[in-house]
Order: sequence, then C-alpha cells, then structure tokens
Amino acid sequence: MSHPLPYGVFATPDDPRPRTGVAVGDRVLDLPATVAALDPSFAPVVAGPSLDALLAAGPSVWAALRAALTGWVDAEAPVVWATDPSMRLPFTVADYVDFYASEQHATTIGRIFRPDQEPLTPNWRHLPIGYHGRAGTVVVSGTEIVRPSGQRRGPDGPVFGPSQRLDIEVELGYVVGTPSRLGEPVPLDRFAEHVFGVCLVNDWSARDIQAWEYVPLGPFLGKSFATSVSPWVVPLAAFDHARVPAPERTEALLPYLDDAETEPWGLDIRFEVRLNGHLISEPVFGGMYWTGPQMLAHLTVNGASLRTGDLYASGTVSGGSPGSLIELTWNGRDPLTLPDGTTRTFLADGDEVVISATAPGPGGSVINLGSVIGRIS
Ligand code: MN
Repeated sequence: MSHPLPYGVFATPDDPRPRTGVAVGDRVLDLPATVAALDPSFAPVVAGPSLDALLAAGPSVWAALRAALTGWVDAEAPVVWATDPSMRLPFTVADYVDFYASEQHATTIGRIFRPDQEPLTPNWRHLPIGYHGRAGTVVVSGTEIVRPSGQRRGPDGPVFGPSQRLDIEVELGYVVGTPSRLGEPVPLDRFAEHVFGVCLVNDWSARDIQAWEYVPLGPFLGKSFATSVSPWVVPLAAFDHARVPAPERTEALLPYLDDAETEPWGLDIRFEVRLNGHLISEPVFGGMYWTGPQMLAHLTVNGASLRTGDLYASGTVSGGSPGSLIELTWNGRDPLTLPDGTTRTFLADGDEVVISATAPGPGGSVINLGSVIGRIS
C-alpha cells in the first residue's frame, strides 16, 4: 500500500530530546528507535534533532527509506510509536526565498495598488518574481506571533507603532535536500534530485510597514518578523496522483524556464484557511502559473548554489479564492463578517489562523499535509 509518510521532528513528555519521526495516519513513528530495531543501516540519516541528515542524504536514500517504511507499516512490523508527541521545527532553515507565482494574487494586488495600470508588471509572465527572506525567523506551527512594530505612512510623515494591517499569506514551501555547486544552475528536469518535499507556509505580512518600505528594493521588515511552517514535510514521492499540468502560458518562455516538454509539476493541493475557527477561504494550488521546478531553475540560473535546508515558498496562493486578507477585504475597504458576527479587515490581537491542506492520493485516498497554526499576541 502507498502511504504519504510525511517527515517531522518531535519530542515527548518522557523524552524531551527532539528526534525525527514519520506520520502514519494519526500516529507518529519514532524513526531512530524504529531503525535501531529493524534496520540500523538507516541510523545515521535519521539521527539528530532535525531532518537535516536525511535531507542531505539525497534521492536514493530517500527512496530506500520510503520503501523500507512502507514495507514495515504494511507488514505490521514492530515499529516504535511515539507517545504524546509534540512537534518541533523539522529542519534547519538555510536560506529562505519567497516567490509571487499566483497569477490571481499578482493580478488582484496590481488592481488594488495600481488601478490605472496593467495589473501584472511587464516581467511577470517571463520570470518567477521573488525576494530573499529571513531564514532565522522561520518558526514552526504553534509559535505565537508577536505583532510587529515599525514605520508606516502617516498624514504628516512616517509614524512608528504596532502594525495595524497584519495579514496572512497562504503558501506552499519547497524544502531543498541535495545541495548544488556554486556556478552550476539546476535545470527543470533535476528538480526532484534536489527538492525533498513540501510544507505549508504562512508568510505573515505587515501591510502598512510593507507599503512604506518596499520601494525600490522590495519587502523587508514588513515580512521578516516571522514566517510559520507546518511541522510536516511531505516528500515529493507522495504526490504521484496529485500532479497536474501547469496552466497555458500566454508568452513564450526562455529555454531554462520552458516546461512544455517536461514532466508536469503542478500540484492539486487544496487549502483551507480558518480564522478563529471560521472557514474564510479555500485557495487551490493546482493552477499556479509558475511550478516548483521553474522557481528552482530561476533561483539558480545565475549560478547561485543550493544548501541543504533551503526553503523557497510559492507566494500567496489565490486560485479559486484568495490566500490573504488584503485580497479578501480589498485592502480593508470591504470587511469580512465572520459567522460569530465579528468583522475583520486585518488581524486582531488574539486571532488564531489555521491553514490546512490536502491532495489526492492513490485509489481515492487523501494526502493530509497537516496544518500551520499561528496566534497573534
Ligand atoms: Mn509571501
């Protein structure tokens, strides 16, 4: 049988040391304890307080461990289950890059901020636009998010204080395993040799800080205070039944981005976004204009090298319905009314945001990508 087998890092009340694990249904398999009992040859790659060694081990080891785990679970071998696990940050984030790959998101943002112009900038259909974020403030789901303070535009010049326009961005994150050499781009067809899997990302965004600071060098303090990730990294190998073609391209792409003759890497992932328990949006990843391989090819086309633990995120996913409050409320003009009668433009203190996602698996099964949760304090 095929199991998704997401990887993460957990601790238990009995043993507070973080260690690697695999989700099987609702249970968490203790990887170091299991391989010690069933196949110690895997011990080095599952050792340590993070997934770093496994990520660095590369695709042949990823496939071998996946095959072994599938066999053990199917045969009901004496694997070791974790008791009352709590999840930790799954890997050491090396570099963090955030893209802008949803045509729906980029178009809506363009309409809100540049209503008299073409919504998409002239470069948008020719390259996946991105910026470098702050790896050191990537936090695991459940970490409290402190409302950032900063400069924003005031009626008589800039003012300083807590952000009044704190927002979410629903994104998919790609986790790099195998490094690459400086000076050697990673072409489209080597994506799965380097990328281990995906996680869910909430790219918290202070829109008022961002709006004042971003010209001309892009997002800075409006984004860098915190980025939340789900505790589970779902391997690419789990998505064989969720892969869909990329959308029609309206502009010819330069050869290093032209994926017309390559294996499809669109992913039929469906998100649900809940604010204080109320479902507010259901973005769909399937139609994203730029795919994971294209983002990776662009990220490295200048020769920039990859490191184990590099994280690159898709940008706000707004197919089907928007993945941010700035879109859902048209920059605060049209407040959301929640079923409990409260209204929101942007996030209030105490608000809890839960982003979860699923994808189709084999034989009508469902791959659960878990959730990324954050509460504003
Ligand atoms: Mn973002």
